[in-house]
Amino acid sequence: MSEPIRIAIVGAGPAGFFLAEKLLGQTETPVAVDLFDRLPTPYGLVRFGVAPDHEKIKSVTRSFDRTAARPGFRFLGAVDIGAALSVDELRRHYHALCFATGAQTDRRLGIPGEDLAGSHPATEFVAWYNGHPDFRDHQFDLSAERVAVIGVGNVAVDVARILCRTPEELARTDLADHALEALRESRVREVHLLGRRGPAQAAFTTPEVKELGELEGADLIISPEEAALDPLSQAALDAEGDKNTVRKVEVIQQAAGREPAGKPKRLFLRFLVSPTEILGDDQGRVRGLRLVRNQLVDRNGSLSARATEVTEEIPVGLVFRSVGYRGVALPGVPFDEKSGTVPNASGRVLDPAGAPIPGCYVAGWIKRGPSGVIGTNKPDAGETAAALLEDAAAGRLHAPGADPCDVLLAAKGIEPISWEEWLKLQQHENERGQADGRPRTKVIDLAEARASARGARL
Ligand code: NAP
Repeated sequence: MSEPIRIAIVGAGPAGFFLAEKLLGQTETPVAVDLFDRLPTPYGLVRFGVAPDHEKIKSVTRSFDRTAARPGFRFLGAVDIGAALSVDELRRHYHALCFATGAQTDRRLGIPGEDLAGSHPATEFVAWYNGHPDFRDHQFDLSAERVAVIGVGNVAVDVARILCRTPEELARTDLADHALEALRESRVREVHLLGRRGPAQAAFTTPEVKELGELEGADLIISPEEAALDPLSQAALDAEGDKNTVRKVEVIQQAAGREPAGKPKRLFLRFLVSPTEILGDDQGRVRGLRLVRNQLVDRNGSLSARATEVTEEIPVGLVFRSVGYRGVALPGVPFDEKSGTVPNASGRVLDPAGAPIPGCYVAGWIKRGPSGVIGTNKPDAGETAAALLEDAAAGRLHAPGADPCDVLLAAKGIEPISWEEWLKLQQHENERGQADGRPRTKVIDLAEARASARGARL
């Protein structure tokens, strides 16, 4: 049997694992896959993005674990490609490099007041409450009674829901300990979730909005006027007949017709409003939000928001901007600033002249942008794997040196966390959590994570 082709995947989130599975799960071309992550822990956004009260969604990690058990798979955690090791250095040891680094930052709103104290990207709040080591020291002033969440995607819904959950509900999840403590003391009583278009265009999915209407500690409040469809949306829905959208609008309109039950918190879901300014007090802290009412207009076949003359101000002490993630450039890899993605054709990375770079691939959000659910990354990874295997068969991959990358890592004094070491850390987290009736208690401190992975008694 011929020597396996050596493949490095950078980023151990869902896209990285699905890609590893597609490569290791075929038998035609022998491959060895090294899956790198800059953190000591695998699973990417399943660990640091999926909401702690959505434990079921995290069961996808079982399929990642099956991939990790395949012959030819290695996990190399705590290796920062682009910092500790350059892409060029890595390239000397592999026939193919695949980047599955996701979208690590947030999109900006571009309105005055965006950087006031108390205005945060929702992505940072999510990373903080999920125990991402880079965000553990972030501070969010939960003494504010009113909070605005800008955007109506599933991330905005997650943030609003976590703010509305009772401390008892949160205590049953794997929310980071520091967040559990802070949310226990939270004085938040009102959350305003703000959509710039109407119910038919809301980016959240139906089960997610339905769940907002079933919260133990918060009433969902929607004004019937804002829940009603404008003539353009109604016409578009009638013409397309998209069942998912019809159901979503139904759920929203049913909730709008409901009397509040007088629960301790109130969650206002608004439509057809855009923030035009985040207002500050004389200390430079958020004190409110200026909104403009929108109407929908047809722009090249899709309905977009156009501002009217009608404005309002809402007093809020905290703002989460949840208008989408954005990819970050990796030194040594082409990047399109406009889309925040790596230019590619079916996963083959393209150079500035539009030609494929031999042995260079992308998968997941850095390939197609931050959209879709976890499962969307499966066919996406399938496409990239097919391109790579086709190039391998055609002799189009890069020709590396004979040494495995271990030689380079050792020379640089880098000691990656292995899969077996991660399993030890995971067992430690599970045991700690289950003793308190939680799925796990995450280790957040990087040094502690390393020590625990290496079997040290903590
Ligand atoms: P998203 O789904 O793209 O939603 C972004 C939201 O921001 C949209 O409502 C968008 O409105 C709004 N927006 C954009 N620019 C704006 C502006 N300038 N002013 C006001 N609003 C603005 O992004 P996301 O919520 O970050 O989620 C990312 C992906 O992860 C999505 O595919 C999502 O479904 C997925 N996800 C899934 C789950 C789950 O399955 N439970 C949980 C979390 C995330 P327009 O539509 O008008 O542009």
